[in-house]
Amino acid sequence: KEKTLAMIKPDGVAGNYSDVIKTAIFYSGFSITQEMLLELNEETVRSFYAEHATKSFFPSLVQYMSSGPVLIMVLEKVNAISDWRNLIGPTDANKAKVTHPNSIRAMCGLDLQRNCVHGSDSPQSAYREITFFFNKSSSG
Ligand code: ATP
Repeated sequence: KEKTLAMIKPDGVAGNYSDVIKTAIFYSGFSITQEMLLELNEETVRSFYAEHATKSFFPSLVQYMSSGPVLIMVLEKVNAISDWRNLIGPTDANKAKVTHPNSIRAMCGLDLQRNCVHGSDSPQSAYREITFFFNKSSSG
């Protein structure tokens, strides 16, 4: 089985979407092996999203991601990484509502930035992101 890092972002937690998202997670055959509710500080967000540091939206992303609690989860199933990315849908929640109406971002997201959930995009980023938040024995 494969593991991926999923996160319910501040807009998702504040909008009370955690339960409906977890229901979709279980319904889609994932198990949640680790779970942690925490508030990210700006430094942690900058480090987590370091690949976007030069983008024009980075300061806004840092502010948004540190604006309230997030729910961080390790999801496990066969093909977890791509299956979770498919379940959450495209980055822009407004586009998701048109092209992927059953996706989590279509249901819970607000716009291009406030898209309610995160998912690792490759085995390398899944490993990096799981070990970023949890101990190394969780990442296998
Ligand atoms: P994530 O990495 O959170 O799963 P993603 O892989 O779909 O999302 P990325 O391109 O890695 O998207 O961007 C990371 C996050 O930065 C997005 O989820 C979104 O919240 C925000 N973001 C991306 N592009 C923009 C943009 N052009 N304007 C504002 N915010 C953006």
